[in-house]
Amino acid sequence: MSEREQAVLSWVNKQLFIGGKWVDSSTGATYGVEDPATNLILAQIADAGPEDAVAALDAASAAFEAWAETPPRARAEVIRRAFEIIMERQEDLALLMTMEMGKPISESRSEVAYAAEFFRWFAEEAVRIDGRYYVAPDGNSRVLTMKQPVGPTYMITPWNFPLAMGTRKIGPALAAGCTVVLKPAEQTPLCSLALAQILTEAGLPGGVVNVVNTTSPGPITDALVADGRLRKLSFTGSTEVGKMLVAKSADNLLRLSMELGGNAPFIVFDDADLDLAVEGAMVAKMRNMGEACTSANRFLVSAKVADAFADRLAARMGAMRIGRGTEEGIQVGPLIDADAVAKVQGLVKDALTRGAKLVTGGDKLDGAGHFFAPTVLTNVNRDARISAEEIFGPVASIVTFDSEDEAIHLANSTEYGLVAYVFSQSLSRSLRVIEKLETGMVGLNQGLVSNAAAPFGGVKHSGFGREGGFEGIEEYLALKYVAINHRA
Ligand code: NAD
Repeated sequence: MSEREQAVLSWVNKQLFIGGKWVDSSTGATYGVEDPATNLILAQIADAGPEDAVAALDAASAAFEAWAETPPRARAEVIRRAFEIIMERQEDLALLMTMEMGKPISESRSEVAYAAEFFRWFAEEAVRIDGRYYVAPDGNSRVLTMKQPVGPTYMITPWNFPLAMGTRKIGPALAAGCTVVLKPAEQTPLCSLALAQILTEAGLPGGVVNVVNTTSPGPITDALVADGRLRKLSFTGSTEVGKMLVAKSADNLLRLSMELGGNAPFIVFDDADLDLAVEGAMVAKMRNMGEACTSANRFLVSAKVADAFADRLAARMGAMRIGRGTEEGIQVGPLIDADAVAKVQGLVKDALTRGAKLVTGGDKLDGAGHFFAPTVLTNVNRDARISAEEIFGPVASIVTFDSEDEAIHLANSTEYGLVAYVFSQSLSRSLRVIEKLETGMVGLNQGLVSNAAAPFGGVKHSGFGREGGFEGIEEYLALKYVAINHRA
C-alpha cells in the first residue's frame, strides 16, 4: 500500500458515528474491510449491533425537532458547504473509494463529483419547499396545503456507488428537515464514514446524521423498523432484499423508497448511428465494471446491424486495460468479491451451453483480486439465465430482433423496469418505442442517465420512489391539508 493510500485511510475514522460522537460498537466487535483488487484488509472498523442502531435512532429522534425547525436557508448552507468540502477532497475520496470498491480511479473521481452534485442540488431545493392555497370549487372554504419533514429516516445503501448512494438520500432528507440513520453496505463503509466527518465539518449538528456500519444488516434493520419512532425507510439494493424490507415495514406502515435491481435492455435499431451506439454501449456496459443497476444487461440489436455492432463492441471491450483501479489508465477494476465472479462465470457458462458464441473474454483472471475479463457473447438464447438475471459484471450479451414490435416485446419481457437505452436516428420511431417501454428511465442515444437534476427510479420489480430532480425531496416530505373556514 502506498504512503498516500495509508494517509487517506488514516484520515477516516473507523468507529460508528452516533449523536455527533465517534463511538465503538457496544459489544466491542470490529471487522475488516477488504481491497477487492488485492484481497488485503484495508482497515478494521467497528461492527454495530442492534443496540447501536437503536442508539443511533435515539440520536436521530432527539435531533429531529430542532433540525426540522432550522430555517431552510441555514439547512441549505450546511448542505452546500458539504458539497464544497467533498469537491475540495475529491482526490482523497476517489482514492478511498477505489481502494474499498475497486472501480478505476477516473470513475471514482466522477462518482465523487456526482455524489457532491446531490448536495449542491438539494441545497438549492431546501429553500423551495412550497404549499398551496386555493378556493374550494363551491367557494365556501379554502384549501391550504403544507409540506413537512417525514421524520427520522433509515437509509440502507449498496456497495457499488459507495458515496453517491448515500448523498442521493441524505441530500434531500436534510433539505426537507429529516434526520438520518445510515447503514452503508458492509463491503464499502469507509466512504460513508468520511462523509459523516465532512458533514460535521460543514456544520451539521450532532444526531442529524448517524452512521452504523455492520456485518449484521438483518438484526439491525429488524430493530429499527420495529421502533415506532422511525418514519421512513429508503433502500437501494437488490430486489430480493427490497421485497423483504417492504414486508417488514408493514407493521409500522413506514414511508418507503425502493431503488432496486435492473435488467436494462439496450436497443440498437438498424437506423442507429453505430459509432454512437458502440460509444453508448461502452458506458452503459462497462461503467463500474458492469456493477450498476443501470448497466446494460441485454443488448437487443437489429439483425441487420448485429454483426457490425458486436465486432466493434468486442474490439473496444477486448482492448480495455484491467488492473487495480488505483493505477492511472486502468479501465476495468475487480468485481466486488469472489461470489460476484462466480455468479458472472455461471451466467456465461450457462449461455455458452445454450449455444451462445463467445467473441471476446469469457473467464475470470488468475491471481489475486476478483477480476473478470470483459466479455462479449452473441447468438444468446432468449431463455438463457443471462437474459433474465442481473449480470452485475463486464459481460455484453447480444440478442437479435427483426422488427420494432419484437424489440419492444423483448425489452419488456422482464420483471424489472429501471432503465432502457434506445439508439435510433428516427425521432418518431424513438418516441413510439419509448412510450411503450415499461421502465422508469430511458437513455435516448446515450448510455448514461444518472443526473442529480433528474428523477432516478424504476417501475415493476425495480421499485418505486424517485431520487434526484425536483421529485427527490418529496420522498422526505409529508403533505398536510388544512380546510379553512375563511368566514369564521
Ligand atoms: P443487497 O440487497 O445484497 O445489499 C444492499 C444493502 O442491503 C446493503 O447495505 C446490505 O447490507 C443490505 N442488506 C442485505 N441484507 C439485508 C437484510 N436482510 N436486511 C436489511 N438490509 C440488508 O444488494 P447488493 O448486492 O449489495 O447491491 C447490488 C444491488 O443493488 C443490485 O441488485 C443493484 O441493481 C441494486 N442497485 C440499485 C440501484 C437503484 O438505484 N435502483 C442502485 C445501485 C444498486
